[in-house]
Amino acid sequence: MPPPMMIIAGPPGSGKGTLCENIQRATNVVHLSTGDLLRVEVKQATELGKKAEEFMSKGKLVPDALIIAMVLQRLKQKDIKERGVLLDGFPRTGGQAEALKKAGVKFDVMVLLEVSEKSLMERSAGRRLDPQTGTIYHLKFNPPPSDVLPRVVIRPDDQPEKQKFRIEVFNKTKAELVAAYQDILLPINADQPIQRVYEEFVRKSMAKKQSKL
Ligand code: AMP
Repeated sequence: MPPPMMIIAGPPGSGKGTLCENIQRATNVVHLSTGDLLRVEVKQATELGKKAEEFMSKGKLVPDALIIAMVLQRLKQKDIKERGVLLDGFPRTGGQAEALKKAGVKFDVMVLLEVSEKSLMERSAGRRLDPQTGTIYHLKFNPPPSDVLPRVVIRPDDQPEKQKFRIEVFNKTKAELVAAYQDILLPINADQPIQRVYEEFVRKSMAKKQSKL
């Protein structure tokens, strides 16, 4: 049976990364977050990283021309071919969805995490990044260990006005994504505790028989 191919979409702070971690604990599938990939490029100050940072620090989307080739390249690698992928944060535009289709990359399911704007703002306010490991914590929902706590920082794109802007950016392209994956769409209520979000995902994906988990 071919491995699971899943897209995890949702506004910033909807818990895409956390859901992916939970799915990964139960399966062998590869978690590929474009936000994480880009942050590594920024940290290493590569050409791509330098260009991407200009957009990321403002909460804007990195242009398709910069990101699509990087993702298509990664999707061709052996681990993903064998174990499948949880594609977290990509595609984010109709152009990116189109590029995946053109490259012949097919998916079983597109999970769409739905959360109210009020909750999104609360979540981002407590989110912290460990600059050493790249791990994302939340002061209330997933606090960092005491030895990590002193070094955690607020991600530049989690500042309230940037978060608001990022939510608007997501809302603008959401319809393009929904249209591109109408046939495999799996909306999940992500305005509930992490464990419940995961349970709803498992229940709904089994019911739809779209997931091969
Ligand atoms: P994330 O960690 O998924 O919230 O992504 C952080 C930032 O990386 C976003 O605000 C964008 O600037 C950039 N980024 C991540 N994924 C994409 C994408 N698919 N297209 C464009 N920009 C992206």
